[in-house]
Amino acid sequence: MSHIVCFDIGGTFIKYGVFDPKGHLLYKSKMATPTSHEIPDVLNNKVKSLQHDIHLSAIGISSCGLVDREKGMILFSNNIQGYSGMKLGEILFSLTKLPVSVENDVKSGCLGEMWKGAVKGMRNAIFLTLGTGIGSSIVMEGRIVNGSSGFAGELGHTVVVAGGKPCSCGRKGCLERYASTSAFVQDYKEEALRKGVAVENVSGEMIMELVKQGDPVALLVYERFIHYISMGLTNVIHLLNPEKIIIGGGITEGEGPFIQDINRQLRNEVMEVYGNEDTVIASSLGNDAGLYGACYLALNRMNMKESV
Ligand SMILES: [Zn+2]
Repeated sequence: MSHIVCFDIGGTFIKYGVFDPKGHLLYKSKMATPTSHEIPDVLNNKVKSLQHDIHLSAIGISSCGLVDREKGMILFSNNIQGYSGMKLGEILFSLTKLPVSVENDVKSGCLGEMWKGAVKGMRNAIFLTLGTGIGSSIVMEGRIVNGSSGFAGELGHTVVVAGGKPCSCGRKGCLERYASTSAFVQDYKEEALRKGVAVENVSGEMIMELVKQGDPVALLVYERFIHYISMGLTNVIHLLNPEKIIIGGGITEGEGPFIQDINRQLRNEVMEVYGNEDTVIASSLGNDAGLYGACYLALNRMNMKESV
């Protein structure tokens, strides 16, 4: 029986996993991301070492950055230096002689959740990752919405505060500046400083823990965070009417009222005709969502599987 190896390439780690033809993840691991020019060789070496034990029929890649899926090319990446412009699919095919599919990690994650995860069987969903920025992907009628040049779904760069904080995209007041994990952390640091406390090393997860403990600064900042996320999501719901919005990223992991608080706020903001159900759910595949999506696309490329 032949298998599929999938890689999820991020700025810090390359996660990888081996799937059987039914899309069961048999095992997974990760390695540090090397310099960009070493990436094809590192992936090729991993493929070769796996081939000692198993028969591989395809490679699926989920990658950070903007990806041209047709060409298997990384159009732009600000996470890995020198990665922009790499024809990863072509290079890896010439090294391994295996078919290679390449897709953006957020789009892969969304497909993964639709195929095997939180929104299995649904046809209309939005996938959001909260991290340094906000990644988002739209699936309508079972297909990823790419737009005319492949850049559809940049929810993070829609404005929620007119004339607000400057954003890396050149505009002011983008959602990403108020509702990403890094914006949450930044807001906490600024609010703590106003109270006369200088905070250095703090993560979104740590602030969530402080929220649970009833820390007043954390609660204040958390309330603003929920307000802005809900504002962005209400816009999305009114525009696209998805069945579900899946939220992923470290901040959504673990126990806590985060998802329920967003749903509660959405009930105040979304028009009644959209219904009263909880639209927002947490990712169920977590860090593996991108690998599952990569496997789905690799199988799809070989016409070996059903659609999501
Ligand atoms: Zn922006």
